Amino acid sequence: YCKINGRNHMLMYSLTMEEAYNENVILDADIRKALHNDEFELYYQPQINVTTGEVIGLEALIRWMHPKKGPVSPAKFIPLAEESGVITQIGEWVIREACHQHKEWIEKGHKPMRIAVNVSAVELQRTDFAAKVQGILTETHMDPHFLEIEITENSVMQNTEDCILTMNCLRRMGISLSIDDFGTGYSSFGYLKQFPINYLKIDQSFVRSALKEQSSAAIVRAMIQLAHNFGLRVVAEGVEDEHVLSLLKNEQCDYYQGYYFSKPVNAMEIEKNYFSI
Ligand code: C2E
Ligand code: MG
Ligand code: MG
Ligand code: MG
Repeated sequence: YCKINGRNHMLMYSLTMEEAYNENVILDADIRKALHNDEFELYYQPQINVTTGEVIGLEALIRWMHPKKGPVSPAKFIPLAEESGVITQIGEWVIREACHQHKEWIEKGHKPMRIAVNVSAVELQRTDFAAKVQGILTETHMDPHFLEIEITENSVMQNTEDCILTMNCLRRMGISLSIDDFGTGYSSFGYLKQFPINYLKIDQSFVRSALKEQSSAAIVRAMIQLAHNFGLRVVAEGVEDEHVLSLLKNEQCDYYQGYYFSKPVNAMEIEKNYFSI
Protein backbone atom coordinates (compact mmCIF):
# COMPACT_ATOMS: atom_id res chain seq x y z
CA TYR A 1 0.00 0.00 0.00
CA CYS A 2 2.65 2.29 1.11
CA LYS A 3 4.63 1.69 -2.06
CA ILE A 4 1.71 2.24 -4.38
CA ASN A 5 0.72 5.37 -2.55
CA GLY A 6 4.27 6.54 -2.76
CA ARG A 7 4.44 5.90 -6.49
CA ASN A 8 1.15 7.58 -7.16
CA HIS A 9 2.29 10.49 -5.16
CA MET A 10 5.49 10.71 -7.20
CA LEU A 11 3.49 10.51 -10.42
CA MET A 12 1.21 13.31 -9.38
CA TYR A 13 4.13 15.42 -8.36
CA SER A 14 5.94 15.01 -11.67
CA LEU A 15 2.79 15.73 -13.66
CA THR A 16 2.36 18.97 -11.77
CA MET A 17 5.97 19.85 -12.49
CA GLU A 18 5.44 19.11 -16.17
CA GLU A 19 2.33 21.25 -16.25
CA ALA A 20 4.16 24.07 -14.59
CA TYR A 21 6.99 23.66 -17.08
CA ASN A 22 4.57 23.79 -20.02
CA GLU A 23 2.86 26.84 -18.65
CA ASN A 24 6.21 28.56 -18.31
CA VAL A 25 7.21 27.67 -21.89
CA ILE A 26 3.91 29.10 -23.14
CA LEU A 27 4.36 32.23 -21.04
CA ASP A 28 7.88 32.70 -22.38
CA ALA A 29 6.61 32.53 -25.96
CA ASP A 30 3.88 35.00 -24.99
CA ILE A 31 6.47 37.42 -23.57
CA ARG A 32 8.33 37.42 -26.88
CA LYS A 33 5.06 38.07 -28.73
CA ALA A 34 4.12 40.78 -26.23
CA LEU A 35 7.28 42.73 -27.08
CA HIS A 36 6.27 42.77 -30.76
CA ASN A 37 2.59 43.47 -30.11
CA ASP A 38 3.15 46.35 -27.73
CA GLU A 39 1.39 44.69 -24.78
CA PHE A 40 3.71 46.17 -22.16
CA GLU A 41 3.19 49.52 -20.53
CA LEU A 42 5.09 51.48 -17.91
CA TYR A 43 3.31 52.71 -14.82
CA TYR A 44 4.92 55.28 -12.57
CA GLN A 45 4.91 55.63 -8.80
CA PRO A 46 5.83 59.03 -7.33
CA GLN A 47 8.68 59.32 -4.84
CA ILE A 48 8.07 62.02 -2.23
CA ASN A 49 10.33 64.18 -0.11
CA VAL A 50 9.40 63.27 3.49
CA THR A 51 9.96 66.81 4.80
CA THR A 52 8.50 68.96 2.03
CA GLY A 53 5.90 66.59 0.56
CA GLU A 54 7.23 67.40 -2.91
CA VAL A 55 7.32 64.78 -5.70
CA ILE A 56 11.02 64.34 -6.46
CA GLY A 57 10.98 61.40 -8.84
CA LEU A 58 9.08 58.49 -10.35
CA GLU A 59 9.74 54.77 -10.31
CA ALA A 60 8.81 53.04 -13.58
CA LEU A 61 7.11 49.67 -13.07
CA ILE A 62 6.24 47.39 -15.96
CA ARG A 63 2.67 46.25 -16.60
CA TRP A 64 1.57 43.49 -18.99
CA MET A 65 -1.92 43.15 -20.36
CA HIS A 66 -2.00 39.61 -21.73
CA PRO A 67 -4.57 39.27 -24.56
CA LYS A 68 -6.14 36.15 -22.97
CA LYS A 69 -4.99 36.08 -19.34
CA GLY A 70 -5.53 39.79 -18.64
CA PRO A 71 -3.03 41.60 -16.42
CA VAL A 72 0.01 39.48 -15.46
CA SER A 73 2.06 40.64 -12.47
CA PRO A 74 5.76 41.46 -12.99
CA ALA A 75 6.42 39.39 -9.85
CA LYS A 76 5.31 36.41 -11.98
CA PHE A 77 6.77 37.08 -15.43
CA ILE A 78 10.03 38.90 -14.59
CA PRO A 79 11.56 35.82 -12.87
CA LEU A 80 10.56 33.69 -15.89
CA ALA A 81 12.03 36.23 -18.29
CA GLU A 82 15.24 36.20 -16.24
CA GLU A 83 15.43 32.42 -16.53
CA SER A 84 14.89 32.34 -20.29
CA GLY A 85 17.06 35.38 -21.00
CA VAL A 86 14.30 37.43 -22.66
CA ILE A 87 14.68 39.88 -19.77
CA THR A 88 17.46 41.50 -21.81
CA GLN A 89 14.93 42.60 -24.46
CA ILE A 90 12.35 43.58 -21.82
CA GLY A 91 14.96 45.61 -19.97
CA GLU A 92 15.97 47.45 -23.11
CA TRP A 93 12.34 48.22 -23.85
CA VAL A 94 11.83 49.53 -20.30
CA ILE A 95 14.80 51.90 -20.41
CA ARG A 96 13.97 53.15 -23.90
CA GLU A 97 10.30 53.68 -23.00
CA ALA A 98 11.17 55.56 -19.79
CA CYS A 99 13.61 57.82 -21.67
CA HIS A 100 11.06 58.49 -24.45
CA GLN A 101 8.42 59.36 -21.86
CA HIS A 102 10.80 61.70 -20.08
CA LYS A 103 11.57 63.50 -23.33
CA GLU A 104 7.89 63.72 -24.27
CA TRP A 105 7.09 65.37 -20.93
CA ILE A 106 9.88 67.91 -21.41
CA GLU A 107 8.68 68.68 -24.93
CA LYS A 108 5.23 69.36 -23.51
CA GLY A 109 6.84 71.93 -21.22
CA HIS A 110 6.84 69.99 -17.96
CA LYS A 111 9.58 70.28 -15.39
CA PRO A 112 12.04 67.39 -15.85
CA MET A 113 11.63 64.67 -13.22
CA ARG A 114 14.02 61.88 -12.31
CA ILE A 115 12.86 58.44 -13.47
CA ALA A 116 14.04 55.21 -11.83
CA VAL A 117 13.99 51.92 -13.73
CA ASN A 118 14.45 48.43 -12.31
CA VAL A 119 17.26 46.36 -13.75
CA SER A 120 17.72 42.68 -12.94
CA ALA A 121 20.94 40.81 -12.21
CA VAL A 122 20.91 39.09 -15.61
CA GLU A 123 20.96 42.45 -17.40
CA LEU A 124 23.53 44.05 -15.12
CA GLN A 125 25.92 41.16 -15.60
CA ARG A 126 26.05 41.46 -19.38
CA THR A 127 29.35 43.04 -20.35
CA ASP A 128 27.60 45.25 -22.92
CA PHE A 129 25.02 46.62 -20.45
CA ALA A 130 26.52 50.09 -19.94
CA ALA A 131 27.13 50.46 -23.70
CA LYS A 132 23.50 49.49 -24.40
CA VAL A 133 22.27 52.10 -21.94
CA GLN A 134 24.56 54.70 -23.50
CA GLY A 135 23.11 53.85 -26.91
CA ILE A 136 19.56 54.39 -25.64
CA LEU A 137 20.50 57.70 -23.99
CA THR A 138 22.01 58.96 -27.24
CA GLU A 139 19.10 57.73 -29.33
CA THR A 140 16.47 59.34 -27.08
CA HIS A 141 18.48 62.49 -26.24
CA MET A 142 17.97 61.70 -22.57
CA ASP A 143 19.95 63.67 -20.00
CA PRO A 144 21.54 60.85 -17.90
CA HIS A 145 21.21 62.97 -14.74
CA PHE A 146 17.48 62.27 -14.80
CA LEU A 147 17.92 58.51 -15.08
CA GLU A 148 18.25 56.28 -12.05
CA ILE A 149 18.87 52.54 -12.10
CA GLU A 150 17.57 50.33 -9.29
CA ILE A 151 19.43 47.13 -8.61
CA THR A 152 18.33 44.67 -5.95
CA GLU A 153 20.66 43.89 -3.10
CA ASN A 154 20.87 40.25 -4.18
CA SER A 155 21.84 40.98 -7.76
CA VAL A 156 24.94 42.93 -6.73
CA MET A 157 25.96 40.02 -4.51
CA GLN A 158 26.44 37.80 -7.59
CA ASN A 159 29.73 38.58 -9.38
CA THR A 160 30.18 41.56 -7.09
CA GLU A 161 33.42 42.77 -8.69
CA ASP A 162 32.02 42.83 -12.23
CA CYS A 163 28.89 44.54 -10.96
CA ILE A 164 30.96 47.27 -9.33
CA LEU A 165 32.83 47.87 -12.61
CA THR A 166 29.54 48.28 -14.49
CA MET A 167 28.12 50.46 -11.72
CA ASN A 168 31.18 52.74 -11.83
CA CYS A 169 30.75 53.01 -15.57
CA LEU A 170 27.07 53.98 -15.20
CA ARG A 171 27.94 56.57 -12.55
CA ARG A 172 30.59 58.10 -14.81
CA MET A 173 27.90 58.40 -17.50
CA GLY A 174 25.91 60.57 -15.06
CA ILE A 175 23.29 57.98 -14.08
CA SER A 176 22.31 57.59 -10.41
CA LEU A 177 22.11 54.19 -8.75
CA SER A 178 20.10 52.73 -5.94
CA ILE A 179 19.99 49.46 -4.05
CA ASP A 180 16.42 48.12 -4.08
CA ASP A 181 14.74 45.88 -1.48
CA PHE A 182 17.53 46.54 0.99
CA GLY A 183 17.47 44.30 4.04
CA THR A 184 16.01 41.23 2.35
CA GLY A 185 19.24 39.93 0.82
CA TYR A 186 22.50 38.48 1.93
CA SER A 187 24.81 41.46 1.87
CA SER A 188 26.30 42.81 5.05
CA PHE A 189 26.40 46.47 5.93
CA GLY A 190 30.14 46.38 5.17
CA TYR A 191 29.47 45.74 1.49
CA LEU A 192 27.41 48.85 1.18
CA LYS A 193 30.52 51.00 1.35
CA GLN A 194 31.96 49.35 -1.76
CA PHE A 195 29.01 50.08 -4.03
CA PRO A 196 29.07 53.39 -5.95
CA ILE A 197 25.42 54.13 -5.14
CA ASN A 198 23.36 57.23 -4.37
CA TYR A 199 20.23 55.82 -2.75
CA LEU A 200 19.25 53.02 -0.46
CA LYS A 201 15.68 51.74 -0.72
CA ILE A 202 14.48 50.10 2.48
CA ASP A 203 12.36 47.06 1.68
CA GLN A 204 8.64 47.39 2.30
CA SER A 205 8.54 44.43 4.68
CA PHE A 206 10.38 46.50 7.33
CA VAL A 207 8.53 49.71 6.58
CA ARG A 208 5.08 48.13 6.72
CA SER A 209 5.68 46.45 10.06
CA ALA A 210 7.62 49.33 11.65
CA LEU A 211 4.66 50.36 13.84
CA LYS A 212 3.66 46.86 14.91
CA GLU A 213 7.11 45.41 15.56
CA GLN A 214 9.80 47.06 17.64
CA SER A 215 12.42 45.05 15.80
CA SER A 216 11.35 46.39 12.38
CA ALA A 217 11.36 49.95 13.70
CA ALA A 218 14.87 49.40 15.05
CA ILE A 219 16.03 48.00 11.71
CA VAL A 220 14.55 50.94 9.81
CA ARG A 221 16.24 53.39 12.20
CA ALA A 222 19.61 51.59 11.89
CA MET A 223 19.42 51.51 8.09
CA ILE A 224 18.68 55.23 7.88
CA GLN A 225 21.55 56.13 10.19
CA LEU A 226 23.98 53.84 8.45
CA ALA A 227 23.02 55.11 4.99
CA HIS A 228 23.40 58.71 6.13
CA ASN A 229 26.82 57.94 7.58
CA PHE A 230 27.81 56.63 4.15
CA GLY A 231 26.49 59.76 2.48
CA LEU A 232 23.51 58.01 0.90
CA ARG A 233 19.91 59.16 0.64
CA VAL A 234 17.22 56.83 1.90
CA VAL A 235 13.92 55.91 0.23
CA ALA A 236 11.35 53.97 2.27
CA GLU A 237 9.12 51.70 0.18
CA GLY A 238 5.57 50.59 0.94
CA VAL A 239 4.31 53.51 3.05
CA GLU A 240 0.59 52.86 3.42
CA ASP A 241 -0.49 55.29 6.15
CA GLU A 242 0.30 58.57 7.89
CA HIS A 243 1.54 56.85 11.08
CA VAL A 244 4.40 55.14 9.28
CA LEU A 245 5.12 58.39 7.49
CA SER A 246 5.46 60.28 10.77
CA LEU A 247 7.75 57.55 12.14
CA LEU A 248 9.93 58.03 9.03
CA LYS A 249 9.86 61.79 9.55
CA ASN A 250 11.12 61.30 13.12
CA GLU A 251 13.93 59.07 11.88
CA GLN A 252 14.92 61.64 9.27
CA CYS A 253 14.23 59.41 6.28
CA ASP A 254 14.70 61.41 3.05
CA TYR A 255 12.08 60.07 0.63
CA TYR A 256 9.18 57.65 0.51
CA GLN A 257 6.96 55.75 -1.89
CA GLY A 258 3.71 53.97 -1.20
CA TYR A 259 -0.02 53.65 -1.54
CA TYR A 260 -0.48 56.39 1.08
CA PHE A 261 0.59 58.94 -1.52
CA SER A 262 -0.18 57.02 -4.72
CA LYS A 263 -0.22 53.60 -6.33
CA PRO A 264 1.72 53.28 -9.58
CA VAL A 265 -0.35 54.93 -12.34
CA ASN A 266 -0.04 55.37 -16.11
CA ALA A 267 1.71 58.29 -17.80
CA MET A 268 -1.54 60.18 -18.41
CA GLU A 269 -2.45 60.10 -14.71
CA ILE A 270 1.03 61.36 -13.82
CA GLU A 271 0.59 64.30 -16.16
CA LYS A 272 -2.86 65.06 -14.85
CA ASN A 273 -1.93 64.84 -11.17
CA TYR A 274 1.64 66.04 -10.80
CA PHE A 275 2.50 68.33 -13.67
CA SER A 276 1.09 71.80 -13.63
CA ILE A 277 1.75 73.78 -16.78
P1 C2E B 1 10.07 46.78 -6.60
O1 C2E B 1 11.01 47.37 -7.59
O2 C2E B 1 10.56 46.66 -5.21
O3 C2E B 1 8.75 47.68 -6.70
C1 C2E B 1 7.90 47.96 -5.64
C2 C2E B 1 6.62 47.14 -5.70
O4 C2E B 1 5.83 47.45 -4.56
C3 C2E B 1 5.74 47.42 -6.92
O5 C2E B 1 5.07 46.21 -7.27
C4 C2E B 1 4.75 48.45 -6.35
O6 C2E B 1 3.53 48.49 -7.05
C5 C2E B 1 4.55 47.89 -4.95
N1 C2E B 1 4.14 48.93 -3.99
C6 C2E B 1 4.42 50.25 -3.98
N2 C2E B 1 3.90 50.88 -2.91
C7 C2E B 1 3.28 49.93 -2.19
C8 C2E B 1 2.53 49.95 -0.94
O7 C2E B 1 2.36 50.97 -0.29
N3 C2E B 1 2.03 48.76 -0.50
C9 C2E B 1 2.20 47.60 -1.22
N4 C2E B 1 1.65 46.47 -0.73
N5 C2E B 1 2.91 47.54 -2.38
C10 C2E B 1 3.43 48.68 -2.85
P2 C2E B 1 4.98 45.69 -8.77
O8 C2E B 1 4.79 46.84 -9.70
O9 C2E B 1 3.99 44.58 -8.82
O10 C2E B 1 6.44 45.13 -9.05
C11 C2E B 1 6.95 44.03 -8.33
C12 C2E B 1 8.41 43.84 -8.60
O11 C2E B 1 8.61 43.43 -9.97
C13 C2E B 1 9.28 45.09 -8.44
O12 C2E B 1 9.59 45.31 -7.07
C14 C2E B 1 10.48 44.72 -9.26
O13 C2E B 1 11.34 43.88 -8.54
C15 C2E B 1 9.84 43.93 -10.41
N6 C2E B 1 9.67 44.83 -11.55
C16 C2E B 1 8.65 45.68 -11.86
N7 C2E B 1 8.89 46.33 -13.01
C17 C2E B 1 10.09 45.89 -13.47
C18 C2E B 1 10.89 46.18 -14.63
O14 C2E B 1 10.57 47.03 -15.48
N8 C2E B 1 12.08 45.50 -14.75
C19 C2E B 1 12.49 44.58 -13.81
N9 C2E B 1 13.67 43.95 -14.01
N10 C2E B 1 11.77 44.30 -12.71
C20 C2E B 1 10.58 44.94 -12.54
MG1 MG C 1 12.23 48.99 -7.56
MG1 MG D 1 11.64 47.30 -3.78
MG1 MG E 1 10.91 43.93 -5.10
